[in-house]
Amino acid sequence: MKKPSPRWPSHPRSLHSWQLARLRSYLRDTVLPFSAHYRRMFAKEKLSPDQLRSVDDLRRIPFTSKSDFLPGSDGSDPVRDFVLVPDRAVLSRRPSTILRALLHGKASVAEGFEREFRPLLLTSTTGRSAEPVPFVYTAQDIENLKVGGARVYEVCGANREMRMMNMFPFAPHLAFWITHYGGAEFGTFVLGTGGGKVMGTEGNMRLMKKIKPDVLVGMPTFLYHLLLGVVKEGIELPNLQKIVLGGEKAPSGMRRKLRALAQQMGAPKIDVLRSYGFTEAKMAWAECPFDENAGSAGYHIHPDMSLIEIVDPKTGEPRGEGEPGEIVFTPLMARGSVVLRYRTGDCTDGGLFYEPCPFCGQQIPRLVGEISRNSEIRELQINKIKGTLVDFNRLEHVLDNVDHVGTWQLELRKHHDDPLDVDELVLHVAKADEYSDAQLRQMLDERFASEVEVHPNRIEFHSEDEMKTLQGTGTQLKEQRIVDHRPGANGNGAANKAGSERKSELSGQTQQ
Ligand SMILES: [Zn+2]
Repeated sequence: MKKPSPRWPSHPRSLHSWQLARLRSYLRDTVLPFSAHYRRMFAKEKLSPDQLRSVDDLRRIPFTSKSDFLPGSDGSDPVRDFVLVPDRAVLSRRPSTILRALLHGKASVAEGFEREFRPLLLTSTTGRSAEPVPFVYTAQDIENLKVGGARVYEVCGANREMRMMNMFPFAPHLAFWITHYGGAEFGTFVLGTGGGKVMGTEGNMRLMKKIKPDVLVGMPTFLYHLLLGVVKEGIELPNLQKIVLGGEKAPSGMRRKLRALAQQMGAPKIDVLRSYGFTEAKMAWAECPFDENAGSAGYHIHPDMSLIEIVDPKTGEPRGEGEPGEIVFTPLMARGSVVLRYRTGDCTDGGLFYEPCPFCGQQIPRLVGEISRNSEIRELQINKIKGTLVDFNRLEHVLDNVDHVGTWQLELRKHHDDPLDVDELVLHVAKADEYSDAQLRQMLDERFASEVEVHPNRIEFHSEDEMKTLQGTGTQLKEQRIVDHRPGANGNGAANKAGSERKSELSGQTQQ
């Protein structure tokens, strides 16, 4: 089994040709012989791996996107066509197979194929109303997950003496499993609590009191609820050095609030770091510790396992170094489920950078900037005349960045619950401090108008406990920050023009 190599050329041009060479042999030896989808695609395009000589040539491979996973009208399941299914006749012709058979015998060859191709684990996307899309891992993918996961620990500046708590939900989701396997490979103590749904906030708090963790890993909204409880109970966590976030966005305001809570628990200086990953990558990447005043150096991407491109979200044309655009992903070592040039629908306002990281000094591609989702720009029927496009990414940033707002939920409704009436936007807020309701209401109304040119129809204030219930802390796998209560929004879709894919984003949002 091939182990990921931590060495790669540093100069962007040499790095790209090194990655293209890896891609060509990966396509030739592994993807095209065994992937039904890409065998068909390359034949249709009359494309062979040898034609991919430069980054520009990558354009010849058509994009893959979420819509390629939707079941056909004949009931066919295209997801299966993305899984590599080995053909023994082809495998037996590989030079490495012949050598292995000579050196170690046929049984060893058969065992090698098993580890390379037999699916052992599955994680899936988190859409609630759309069918989740399953991605399978073989033993070799789990090896990649271990090595890639351990690198996330390294990038975050962890050491083996640290005690950590993995508070992502026990679920077939990438976030939990990469934290689990990465920790085992890194060789440190990582206690998985399963998050709020398994042990409740109280159970998590009891364990924190006992373990006195150095590192907490989990979703920002859940950790925020949890740390509020810890502060309220007067529990001290003086060892806490890092909070590593994943699964949803965490703009600087949210990180600032988490740091302030950590200070109240007797942890004077902590790094709050984010990770970014998605089901289709079977991998995640993290920020290294950075100076908040200078801003994050971005997600550190390991170029031996993944080839990331940034493209214009409208035209699909490649963007240059440091230019913003949509994130497109191609694996270089994956087995099991494999997608090439996968359009994530996630856009960064920064871009890819190749110079050494200003904080950790590593020469490694970095994905810099705030990441938002295309699908979170939604059309609302604010008045009867025409639809209005509202950027929910920006609303999330606004809400997370207002200091007086602790947690929040945006609710979409129909006026009078009448499917034919106009849409309403209701903002639910649990305050972080004693700031006056009237002043906060006015401030939020103004921020909405200036950022997205709509006003919330109502702003309702709630206690922290009421907000936990609204968001489903302890009952849902993920806190519900944007909910759609319009008639038909979760049923036949009559009220939601955007169709089923967008609906899933309303409740599921950022993957992992
Ligand atoms: Zn760094």
